Amino acid sequence: MYEIIVEDEFSAAHFLKLYDGSWEHRHGHNWKVAVAAEAQKLDSMGVVLDFEMLKPSLKEVLSRLHLTSLNDHPRFDKTGVNSSTENIARLIYDELSKKIKSPTARITKVTVWETPDACASYVS
Ligand SMILES: [Zn+2]
Repeated sequence: MYEIIVEDEFSAAHFLKLYDGSWEHRHGHNWKVAVAAEAQKLDSMGVVLDFEMLKPSLKEVLSRLHLTSLNDHPRFDKTGVNSSTENIARLIYDELSKKIKSPTARITKVTVWETPDACASYVS
């Protein structure tokens, strides 16, 4: 099995609904994102996915989140889904997976750090 990982980052605000029903104060993070893709065999170019295709695709997904309040995103706004780091990882996975069309490779993991020592991953 082969695996590649690309990283990027974005800045955005969010606030969570807490267990007791109260809301956090709105605050921002510089979110770091790592995306892993894997393939059983390499493609005709000898790669899992072309970095020059994967990196711009990730950048485009993150550009729609950059400098926004994540609670206003349709995934979270009025849905009752908290804009947690876990749910943000799933959102990025869903959006990026739609853009990556490969017969041999797939996105397997999206990890999002909200601080340098705290991250969450969605693993498919
Ligand atoms: Zn936060």
